[in-house]
Amino acid sequence: MGRVYNFSAGPAVLPEEVLKEAAAEMLDYQGTGMSVMEMSHRSKAFEEIIQTAERDLRDLMGIPDNYKVLFLQGGASQQFAMIPMNLMKNRVADYIITGQWAKKAAKEAEKYGKVNRIASSEDKTFSYIPDCSDLPVSEDADYVYICENNTIYGTKYKELPNTKGKILVSDVSSCFLSEPIDVEKYGVIYGGVQKNIGPAGVVIVIIREDLITEEVLPGTPTMLTYKTHADADSLYNTPPAYGIYICGKVFKWLKSMGGLSVMKEHNEKKAKLLYDFLDQSKLFKGTVEKKDRSLMNVPFVTGNPDLDAKFVKEAKAAGLENLKGHRTVGGMRASIYNAMPYEGVEALVAFMKKFEEENL
Ligand code: PMP
Repeated sequence: MGRVYNFSAGPAVLPEEVLKEAAAEMLDYQGTGMSVMEMSHRSKAFEEIIQTAERDLRDLMGIPDNYKVLFLQGGASQQFAMIPMNLMKNRVADYIITGQWAKKAAKEAEKYGKVNRIASSEDKTFSYIPDCSDLPVSEDADYVYICENNTIYGTKYKELPNTKGKILVSDVSSCFLSEPIDVEKYGVIYGGVQKNIGPAGVVIVIIREDLITEEVLPGTPTMLTYKTHADADSLYNTPPAYGIYICGKVFKWLKSMGGLSVMKEHNEKKAKLLYDFLDQSKLFKGTVEKKDRSLMNVPFVTGNPDLDAKFVKEAKAAGLENLKGHRTVGGMRASIYNAMPYEGVEALVAFMKKFEEENL
């Protein structure tokens, strides 16, 4: 069939079962005589698709009834603006800077109010998560913002920051559904789905109901107001229907795998295989402080950019694709999201061993 092991950071590998099911339903979705791509978003069939998707997501994450689930568009980057526009009542927010995505979010929020950068790991190229147990949280902050898993640098919060009672807003784009979380600890959880859940074009926002109000910043477009989408159950306008359909299939797949606790075990097992190899390798080296390592994105280097490039090229020829690190940091990065099978990581480690023997 010619499929490769795809280590892309996103859009990324999806479960093969899901792709096969979607292929089988492409021309005729369950006797409707049409593809989900061709279907009215107001049809009975689509209504069932979106409602089932929401129900399954709620089951998987244990989302309480006082939280809304919204299926939106505009990428995770659109949330960088939507969050302050909707939540900045005092026009003040605290941001913890752990990488490029948090940095971009903070810069965007600055258009709307005062942004306090209350912690940062930029001093060591974002290779760790700062101690967030006792930060100078601003008294008048409308929320505290984090990027929970840093896709580019491969770090992850193992403990949420102490927000001292302030609302926590978290970008979970690259760790969405990779392990169980306690939704009630957050005011807003959001992420682009193109890493762990589905095709690009869908953003899922899980937001506590009391944060959805009409009191948004003056000039906030209708489409960028959470209330618009919450009141219409994500059907205010045409949603990214086909993407939502695939997300729904991935939710079913996750349930069939045993849910998020089982997924966490799988992810820990995969990550351990790769990290253990890195820790004993004489050629390759992980770039992140051990305690803060992500289960999803694993950056590593040889220390020699030419050798890094050779590795990426030869890995590709061996069917291991998209291992080049982010353009801003170089080196390599293996993204090992939910849908990456254990065998994919085994193949990568075997290839790294061979490469090490040949190039040391
Ligand atoms: N946040 C994180 C953690 C990301 O990894 C990315 C994209 N890779 C973004 C935000 C931006 O996402 P989008 O391209 O959907 O705007």
